[in-house]
Formats: sequence, C-alpha cells, structure tokens
Amino acid sequence: MIINSQNGTSLVQQVLQRNQEQSELFCSPDAHLSRLLYRAKHPTEILWFKCMDGRLNGAVITQTPVGIIQPVRNIAGSFDLGWPYLGELVAQWVEYAVTRGRHCLPFVTYHWSKSDTHKGCRGHNYDVKAAQSDAKGLLERIEYVFGAEHSVVYPILVGIETDEDAMLLHGTGDKQLYVANELDTKTEDLRKKIYDLYPSMDAQVIEDLFALVEGNVRHMRYLREHPRTEEQTKHCEQIIAIGRGFDWLHWLNRALIIGPYSYDLAKPIEIAAGIILDNLNQGMVPKSEGALLMTSGIYREPRGPQPRLAELKARSLEAFALQVIKDRVPALYPYLHVLSGTVDTNTRLYTSLNNVK
Ligand SMILES: [Zn+2]
Repeated sequence: MIINSQNGTSLVQQVLQRNQEQSELFCSPDAHLSRLLYRAKHPTEILWFKCMDGRLNGAVITQTPVGIIQPVRNIAGSFDLGWPYLGELVAQWVEYAVTRGRHCLPFVTYHWSKSDTHKGCRGHNYDVKAAQSDAKGLLERIEYVFGAEHSVVYPILVGIETDEDAMLLHGTGDKQLYVANELDTKTEDLRKKIYDLYPSMDAQVIEDLFALVEGNVRHMRYLREHPRTEEQTKHCEQIIAIGRGFDWLHWLNRALIIGPYSYDLAKPIEIAAGIILDNLNQGMVPKSEGALLMTSGIYREPRGPQPRLAELKARSLEAFALQVIKDRVPALYPYLHVLSGTVDTNTRLYTSLNNVK
C-alpha cells in the first residue's frame, strides 16, 4: 500500500478515520436530538439533486443537521427521471412523505464559481448555461410526474455559487433571489421575498425553505469571516465513491461521488477516473498517495438480509468499476487503492469488507 508521505497515514486509513469521526458525531446525543427537534419544527421532506462534485453539501451550506436533506448525486447533476431505479426511489420518497402528512421539496441544483470558470462544473465542461438547462429539464420531469400545480411536490431550481456557497433560488416566472445579496436583509423582509418567489407554495413548506435560506445566510457570513484557502478551493479530487450512503464523506474537492442510477454507469466512472488521472498528472494530487476507488451499499435494518444485500451491492459495484477503469482509463489503474463497504444509515458507520489492496 502506498503511504501518504506527508503524515504517514494511508488514504484508506484517512477515509476510515474520517468516517469513524463523522459517525460518532452523527450518533451523539446532541446531534440525534437536534435532528429530532429540527424534524418536529420543519416537517417538509427535502431531496437534493446535485452534481458528484464533493463541494456541494446541502447540510453544510444551509447549516442544517446532517440527515435532514437527502442527497441524490450524479455526474454533472444530470438525471433522467425515467431511469428505473431513480424513478422508483423518488416515487418511494414521495410516498413515504405523504403517508406521514408531509410535503416534498426537491432541490434541483447546478453549480458554478464566480471567480474562476475552471472552479465550476467539470462534468459540464464549465458551461453554467448547459448545467442550468439540464437541471431545468429534470425539474420539468418532476412536475410532469408529480403535478405542475405543486400541491404536494414542489421542485425548485437552485444554483450554487461555490466560492461563497451562495444559493441562487429561481422562482416563479423570471424571479430570482441570490442569497449573497441578502446577508443584511432583515428576517421579515427576507421571508416576504421567499413568499414572493413562490406565491403558490404551502405556508409550511415556505417556512421550511426559509429555514434553509437563513442557514445559508449564516454559513456565508461565517465564510466571509473565515475565508477558504486557495488550496481548499482547487480541484484536487483523488477519491471516486460509487453507491449511496456517502453523505459523511464531506471532503472539499477530494471526492467525486456517483449515485448508482444511470443506465450507463460506466460513463460517469470513466469521466471521474479521467478527472482524477488529470489531477495526478498535473501534480494536484501526489502520485505517492495515489487514488482511491470506494463503493458502498446501504441498509436501514441491521437485522435480517439487508446488510448482506448491501455487501453484495458494494462488491458488485467494485468489480464493475474496476473493469471500467481497467478498460477505459488504464493509466489510473496502477495508482488505485480499493475500499468497499456497507453503511448503516442509522449510524453512518462505514464497515469495510476487508478487501483493501
Ligand atoms: Zn459539477
């Protein structure tokens, strides 16, 4: 195994240690009770469609307890609601929400950087218009399936400017609200602006959306006082994570996370592997550290068959991804470490399947 020359800890050990810390945080009494309290105050179910870019973390940019926003990731934030697994997942999510008397608020997101085009979306060749139009296409499909009047499911188009993590909310018609311009707006005025953006939105959903916007304001204020270093804003991804259950892997610019939704899973793996190979060749990531391919299968019920099924999923994804990389990006193969495991969604703990190479 290649050892990290800087601190003597291998990439695999770093990842497992990070997961351990994140899991302990997630399970702490404070975090557990905060989630319950938040859920009681803000019942709307939130799904967050986004790019595989590891910077886009809904919980962080809205200062919301981890576990409230459910992420759905794919390369470039491109999704086809017709993909059988994705369609089923979204339909089950909506059913889960309505049977508990909750509304659904899917965020359909795209991202860009205001300071440097090349800090934008690599999966869209840094073309923000293309990213936005792609996201709009998904939003329209959600409206087509779940209702254009938004009685229960109200999808919203949201841009994320990643230098400051500012949300740009696209409202009815051409109305927009860029949170970066609202840092000094009084609470009641900001609330009115959200009502104005989405005049037909249910009052409880507005309140729950407003809580996310207020969180974004707090997060941006924090970032203005504690700006990120140049190092933190560069693309230096060295981890490809495939599967679900990676919301503990909040590692700025280090990980590309691919959900298992598309018919053509090989393509996003190929693109991600190409990005990481570029990073190695350009010296953004030391070749001595190498790259890491991770896979994950999730389970909610630790008893019975679910953990074993999750294990088989993780192993199957690993075999598939390794073959894709071998065939399509062979130059990355010699630098690759592999880590497959399962995630218990109750604890976020990642259990390695002991196949570290
Ligand atoms: Zn992207």
